[in-house]
Amino acid sequence: MTENLSELLWDTIPLYPSPQSEELERDLTAAKDEAGRFRERYQRKVAALDAAALVAALVEYEALQELIVKPQMYAHLLFSADSEDDVNKGLSQKAAEFGNLMSRELLFFDLEVMELPDESFKGLVQDERLARYRHYLESVRKFHPYTLSEREEQLLKMKSLTGTEAFTRLYDELSASFRFKLEIDGEEQELTGEELLGLLHHPSASLRERAFSTFLNRHAEEGIVYGAVFNNIALDHGGELELRGYKYPMEPTNIGNELPAEVVARLMTVSEQNYPLAQDYFRLKARLLNLPKLKNSDIYAPVGEADRRYTFAEAKELVLDAYNGFNPSYRPVIEAFFNERRIDALPRPGKGGGAYCMGMTPTLPPYVLLNFTGNLRDVATIAHELGHGLHFTLAQGQTMLNYHAPLPLAETASVFGEMLLTRHLLERESDPHIKTALLCAKIEDVIATTFRQNVLTRFEERMHLTRKEGLLSSSRLCDLWWEENARLYGDTVEMIEPYRWGWSYISHFIHTRFYCYSYTFAELLVLSLYRSYLQEGASFIPKYEAILKSGGSQSPADTVRPAGIDLSDPDFWQKGYDFLRDLIEELKGTI
Ligand SMILES: [Zn+2]
Repeated sequence: MTENLSELLWDTIPLYPSPQSEELERDLTAAKDEAGRFRERYQRKVAALDAAALVAALVEYEALQELIVKPQMYAHLLFSADSEDDVNKGLSQKAAEFGNLMSRELLFFDLEVMELPDESFKGLVQDERLARYRHYLESVRKFHPYTLSEREEQLLKMKSLTGTEAFTRLYDELSASFRFKLEIDGEEQELTGEELLGLLHHPSASLRERAFSTFLNRHAEEGIVYGAVFNNIALDHGGELELRGYKYPMEPTNIGNELPAEVVARLMTVSEQNYPLAQDYFRLKARLLNLPKLKNSDIYAPVGEADRRYTFAEAKELVLDAYNGFNPSYRPVIEAFFNERRIDALPRPGKGGGAYCMGMTPTLPPYVLLNFTGNLRDVATIAHELGHGLHFTLAQGQTMLNYHAPLPLAETASVFGEMLLTRHLLERESDPHIKTALLCAKIEDVIATTFRQNVLTRFEERMHLTRKEGLLSSSRLCDLWWEENARLYGDTVEMIEPYRWGWSYISHFIHTRFYCYSYTFAELLVLSLYRSYLQEGASFIPKYEAILKSGGSQSPADTVRPAGIDLSDPDFWQKGYDFLRDLIEELKGTI
């Protein structure tokens, strides 16, 4: 890449001048002092607060949360950009311990809200002065039946530092430490994991397979560590379910997501019923590549001459134009990420894989991390992460406790942004070969965020259920992974042998229980929203914007209802897959 490197690195100085800065120390101390004062003021007193006093307490609580979160956000950004730097490692550990201490200090507040007698709670949430916090208070109460005493909760929190949090840290550091050697065009090169996975988009089938195998085999070499990490995460989750009285592994996630178990179960079953749709596409793709049958290292292979490379500057313009075409007022929001250097795009050793957008509070600017290697997928990732960025920015009218979109809606703006990019690219192109390639990329993307995430969720569910029976060995994990993937691929895709280890690099399994179905949820929701946009044109935009602006102030069902979406409609998910079927038909029309 011949670009100005500093444009590919973010600037975290607006947060703090440096990891050793006085400002950072001062915030840490201030947060601890404030938390102490808050505790003194409110501990064992929440039940005695009237509506006005409870509002005042919640406003203070929000300010305190903002203070606590800023140093943690900063530490996370530095650590994910270079997890091998000792200063970053030290700061990250310090921030984790600080965050853990703060949540132990403040646990009492939610616990006392849970303990309020039903009658007085009802009176409070009906009071108009508390309207802004109604959703928050009700969400907290939902966990009441599963919550232990303050002392027990504090102990669990504290021990998690050396339990799941320690395993998560080990997992992240190990995965970021890998360097891979691969021969490309007769020359041995050293690559990061992200760069290797980027080669899945390379035109050469043998290079794709070698790259993927190299990546997976390196994980297999650490099978003891990965097995231990996954086994402990599952054991810990099982213990937690039992202690708190949950009935099934996904239950805490579903309650947190405010989704009834039946809605999630239907989402998954409908996804599985539509696996033949993915298989139809895989057969088509094999034909496009002139292969008798796809290997799973071929799924993302470029079609025709579409091995286009993009500079970061080109990618930026495409993404800006795509958002601009939808709503010109979004352009400056997106542009600010580039102008203020809030994007870290350069892959390098020690940097975490994948991509994320981090927006922590309504008053801090969100930051984006990604690994740009120059292919179309990377351009889509920019559109995706900046969709999150747009969402975080538009939700800034909410206060802290209402800021974060509920998990199932967290991927809405990101996936919608990718859709905008695809349509923008399709409109620019007159060459049918390129149109074919773009449609393939979009369909592969939809498959990856629906079917593949469903496979991941089933695997995760089985992993937790299987752990109940005893130790989960690496080879058992490999088997479960293989079986769930085989259900999706059927006889249309041959999985390469090292793919048995594919589970080991999915960090969501380690970081957040059952995060993956949020992608399936979001993609199908977005396909429906996008269809509404096609039908309604500009009048759709205010409805869409209202969803983003509402942040986390309402449940998912209430947030999307004004846009005409009913999550309890049993046919809702199928409509999303019908749209995918239309995309596949559109593709067939270009061949
Ligand atoms: Zn995302």
